[in-house]
Amino acid sequence: RSQELSQARIDYHVALQALQEQGTGMVCTGKMHTDRICRFDYLCYSSEAEEFVFFQSNLSVMLPNLGSRRFQPALLDLSSVEDHNTQYFNFLELPVAALKFMPKPVFVPDATLILNRFNPDNLMHIFHDDLLPAFYTMKQYSDLDGEARLVFMEGWGEGPYFDLYRLLSSKQPLLKEHLRNFGKLMCFTKSYVGLSKMTTWYQYGFVQPQGPKANVLVSGNEVRQFASSLMKKMNITAVKIGGNDRGRVEHENKGEASDQYVVIFSRSTTRLILNEAEVVMAIVQELQMRVVTVSLEEQSFPSIVQVISGASMLVSMHGAQLITSLFLPRGAVVVELFPFAVNPEHYTPYKTLASLPGMDLHYISWRNTKEENTVTYPDRPWEEGGIVHLEKEDQRRILKSKEVPRHLCCRNPEWLFRIYQDTLVDIPSFMELLKEATKTKLSLRKDKASSTVHPGRVREAQCQTSVQTTKEAKLTVSWQIPWNLKYLKVRDVKYEVWIQEQGENTYMPYILPQQNYTFSENIKPFTTYLVWVRCIFNKNLLGPFADVLTCKT
Ligand code: UDP
Repeated sequence: RSQELSQARIDYHVALQALQEQGTGMVCTGKMHTDRICRFDYLCYSSEAEEFVFFQSNLSVMLPNLGSRRFQPALLDLSSVEDHNTQYFNFLELPVAALKFMPKPVFVPDATLILNRFNPDNLMHIFHDDLLPAFYTMKQYSDLDGEARLVFMEGWGEGPYFDLYRLLSSKQPLLKEHLRNFGKLMCFTKSYVGLSKMTTWYQYGFVQPQGPKANVLVSGNEVRQFASSLMKKMNITAVKIGGNDRGRVEHENKGEASDQYVVIFSRSTTRLILNEAEVVMAIVQELQMRVVTVSLEEQSFPSIVQVISGASMLVSMHGAQLITSLFLPRGAVVVELFPFAVNPEHYTPYKTLASLPGMDLHYISWRNTKEENTVTYPDRPWEEGGIVHLEKEDQRRILKSKEVPRHLCCRNPEWLFRIYQDTLVDIPSFMELLKEATKTKLSLRKDKASSTVHPGRVREAQCQTSVQTTKEAKLTVSWQIPWNLKYLKVRDVKYEVWIQEQGENTYMPYILPQQNYTFSENIKPFTTYLVWVRCIFNKNLLGPFADVLTCKT
């Protein structure tokens, strides 16, 4: 049912004629295969060959026209994971004349987004690698509206969270295995291939140990807009009290405290908290708040999101379920627990998420430092952290080690052994952490949500100079406020002036509250100075420098 493409919506003969005359067309963005997304007219797919086909005619456009460089190593990444050699996209070429000898094509009328899901079994990967990138790729290309067709080419089945992918569009997403149902040759009238990597914040350690991406380009604002769009589609409305997000602990107002609650996201098969009841008691005692326990095995995903979207704190073992912290209200606290020998600083996908500017979450980690409180599983299969398959010497080394050394993804046995331990949470140290949590939260509240508007350039910057003696000179620099400042209420406006003697490679930086200043220290007569001026809002919002001034004393 869902896989029927409404052939009525396009005139088959018109489409076929267009394909025969114009062939396939392609125009892409991006200089490299890692930052490329391509738009195609009449990109086809042969389910027999399991290949995409580009039909070349005299009218075919192929930009970039890479020749055989499109195999070095690929035209583009089909997933949002950078340069992963199992995620490459390319097509085969055929002359349009070959169509005469091929099965009649079936045309897909919908604007289509073609991509690979990276790991649709894992909730973190689903959100970080697929849903967020697809959501914002669809925003980037207006053809990809709420009725776009999504096609997942990684070759996996639906997976346990297919309903989440269904939220991206009103049309049923297609899997690679579905494509053969449309016949031997299908042609996408209009399609986009590839995913934007703009929203990803974490690299999984394929070439260097895992960690935040070097250049994060997303802020909490985009993550939150994505989250609220998804919540709308799940029919969840975030609960708000008195205009304040619930996450903010209103210690001043005891009346609201009773509505606040902590969510423990528990795992029921691996990486368990062995004394969850005690942890609940500790939280109730320390924070005087209700505790709600959720798990993916017990609740539907939307009902979990509903609960999390009103929580003041989310407590969970390190693991994919912590991606749901993107549904927490602003001001909430994320408490991530780590098993013995696992250093929280080395595994920070959720810390990085919580710390995105504008995400407005407080992140804290707790680590089991007591070996007697860990339960190991050496006998399990290797992928669940078992180590009995290893040489005795390696087993001994792993058992003796107190911290997993930095490592690459994905099969490091010591990492898997440690990360799949169960943990008896040490209550005194956990209580200590909670105390700290409330403290940092209160202090952070004070410098909450300031504007992110950056200053414009200062205007009419100029310099005047005068020579006092053969040794002394003065340099006066003045400027006007940035144009946008007169429309803003900014707490703290400062100006930064850099002065460089021409030919030198160092400069003197100054921070000034006013719009002009006369420099006399370190200013020499008969010398040329280069002067840069910029505005700074609230200590850290830097504006651009005005054009450099050349000032001769
Ligand atoms: N998972 C779960 N309960 C468990 C163990 C795992 O719901 O007891 C989920 C987990 O949230 C993730 C998937 O199963 O979506 C795979 O878990 P795994 O431990 O392999 O990955 P990790 O959580 O370490 O990313």
